[in-house]
Amino acid sequence: MGHESRIGVGEAEAGSGRLLRMFGLGSRSADRQHSRGTHSRVSERARLLEAISEFLLRHELSVSPDNLLRAHAIMSGTNPRLAQKVAALEEAGEPITQEWLEQQMGECDSSDTTSSNLDRLARELDHSMERFGESTRSAHEAASDYGAQLAQQTEMVANAKSEEDVVASLAQVARAMLDRTREMETQMKKSQEETQDLRRNLAKARRDATIDHLTNLPNRRAFEDVFKSEWLAAQSEMEPLCLALCDIDFFKKVNDTHGHDTGDRVIRAVAQALDRISDSCHVARHGGEEFVLLFRGLGLEDAEAALDAARERFAARHFVDKISGKAIGGVTFSGGVTDVFAHPDLSSALRSADGALYRAKEAGRNRIEAA
Ligand code: GH3
Ligand code: MG
Ligand code: MG
Repeated sequence: MGHESRIGVGEAEAGSGRLLRMFGLGSRSADRQHSRGTHSRVSERARLLEAISEFLLRHELSVSPDNLLRAHAIMSGTNPRLAQKVAALEEAGEPITQEWLEQQMGECDSSDTTSSNLDRLARELDHSMERFGESTRSAHEAASDYGAQLAQQTEMVANAKSEEDVVASLAQVARAMLDRTREMETQMKKSQEETQDLRRNLAKARRDATIDHLTNLPNRRAFEDVFKSEWLAAQSEMEPLCLALCDIDFFKKVNDTHGHDTGDRVIRAVAQALDRISDSCHVARHGGEEFVLLFRGLGLEDAEAALDAARERFAARHFVDKISGKAIGGVTFSGGVTDVFAHPDLSSALRSADGALYRAKEAGRNRIEAA
C-alpha cells in the first residue's frame, strides 16, 4: 500500500549538479559509458576542455588565466551557483560579459571561496589567541610590578617617620593595584569574548564547508574524507565495507514537468529517505540527483538488502506538489552496490558502484544491482 506525500514548500533553493548535463553537454548513457575505464576519463577531460573553450569563445571572453579558472568553475561543477546563473542568462539569450563575470565571482560561493573564508577565520582566531596571550603576559608583568612596588613600599614603611606616612603609602599601592587589576580584567574579558566568537564562526564555517545546503546531508567533499577514514578503520578492524551510488530515475522529467523548485523538493525527499537508513550507513549527496552511501560492518548482500528495502519503501509513495496541487506520482531511484575491499583503491570502488548503477538503469531502473 502506498501513501501520499506532499512535497514541502518554502525552502531555500540550492543545488549542485552534474553541470555538464545541466548544460546539455552529455547524456546519461554517454556519461555512464564515459565513467568506465581509462578511455572514459580521457574523453571526460576532453569534454571539459572543449566546454571551457567553447564557453569563452561563445561569449567572446579573453583567454586569460582568470577567465580559464572561471570557465573551469562553471563547467566542471565546482561552482554550481554560478553555473546556474550562467545557464539562466544563456537561456534568456543575454550576453555574458567580462564585467558580469567578475562581479559574480565575488558573489557566488564556490568551494574555493569557502576554503579561503575558513583560512581567514583561522588567521583571525590565531591573532585573537595572540592578543589573549599578550593580555596574559601583561597581567604577569603587572603582578611582578606590584611585587617590586610592594618591596619598595615595605622599605619606605620601615623608614617611615609617622603612622600617617605608612597608611598613605600603603593606600597608594592598593589603589594602583586595584586600578591595574580592573583594567586587566576588562582586557582579558574582551579578548576572551572575541576568541569565543571566532571559535564559533570557525566551527560554523567548517560545518558549512562540508554540508550540502539543499538536503543538509554531508557533501561530496565531506564524503571523500569519511570514505578514506572508514576504509582505513574497517581495514584495521577487519570489518566489511560496502559502497553504493543511487540516482533518481527520470529526474529530468520531474524538473521539466513540475519545475526546478519541485525538483529540488524531490531531491530532499530522496535524501531524507536514504538518511533514514543511516544507522547502518553513512549517506551523502554526491552531486545533482545522485547520492553515495557507505555501509560499514555490512557485507555485500546485507548492504544490498538494506538499500533495496529503502528503495521499495520510497517507490510505494505517491507525491503531490504542495504548491500546484498536481500529482507527481511515483518517484523511484536506482542503485549500484559494491564490496569496497574487492578493489585496490577508493576510485576503483567508486567506478565499480557506478558500473552497477548503470546496469540497474539499463535493466529498467527502480532496482539495486550489486557489482
Ligand atoms: P536517469 O533515469 O537515466 O537517471 O534519467 P535522469 O532524467 O534522472 O538523468 P539526467 O542525468 O538526464 O537528468 C538529471 C537532471 O538533474 C538534469 C539536471 O538538470 C537535474 N539536476 C541536477 N542537479 C539538480 C538540482 O540541484 N536541482 C534540480 N531541481 N535539478 C537538478
Ligand atoms: Mg537520474
Ligand atoms: Mg544523475
